[in-house]
Amino acid sequence: MRPVIIAANWKMNTTPADAGELALTIASRTRVPSVTRVICPPFVCLAAVRDALVGADDGIAVGAQDVHHELAGAFTGDVSAAMLVGLARWVIVGHSERRRDHAETDEIIGRKLGRAVEAGLRPILCVGEQLADRDAGRATDVVGGQLAGALGSHDPEALTAAGMVIAYEPVWAIGTGRNALGSDAGAMAETIRATMSRLGWADAGDVPVLYGGSVTAANIGEFLAEPAIDGALVGGASLKPDEMAGIVGRAGVTAAARLSAHS
Ligand code: PEP
Repeated sequence: MRPVIIAANWKMNTTPADAGELALTIASRTRVPSVTRVICPPFVCLAAVRDALVGADDGIAVGAQDVHHELAGAFTGDVSAAMLVGLARWVIVGHSERRRDHAETDEIIGRKLGRAVEAGLRPILCVGEQLADRDAGRATDVVGGQLAGALGSHDPEALTAAGMVIAYEPVWAIGTGRNALGSDAGAMAETIRATMSRLGWADAGDVPVLYGGSVTAANIGEFLAEPAIDGALVGGASLKPDEMAGIVGRAGVTAAARLSAHS
């Protein structure tokens, strides 16, 4: 049975002075059994969020928004996997805003995955097509290429053991208020697992796949109604406790249904 996961990507929002309080508010408003919640604040807020969540329930963890692909060295302003140890348990890699603003290639993203796994961090690998790709019928090719490029050099067993999660985030849906159709996202989640199977993942059916792109409390149900989708990577709405309460509450319905189907 795959877990249900709601990950919050706070992007470049919050400060060390206010992030802890927001994390704690979200933690207390989203205490829903069997839903894993991950809060990914900016690097400089990781310690504040970690400290604020001490004593919160076990179902909430801290994640970083990125990690550098080298172990250490002359990379001004960057953050290595070793620096994240003790601050975060999860890490997002390959977010489309990193691909766009920092020219991250699939090869670099694959190396980031390696650094994350070596450091014991649980990666959330983001993939997703541009609108022009979808309109031209190339969405599955693009996402398949991203997966092959980032995962190709890895031992599937190592990434499986690390608990890697895939987030399908169509670029045109991120921060635009225009979400994908649940059915399209569900179909892409199936395609992602089929592609991973072709890449040598024996247990591709067990890999959690999240949807991301303008998720809100009002539309999360459309995605979680898809059996292939295991949760969401939430950006803008993840800064709003009411939205997070609604999103995680709906995720709890799916988690409970999965549990009862397997009992
Ligand atoms: C994201 O940052 O991964 C994201 C999906 O953002 P938003 O929910 O704001 O579209």
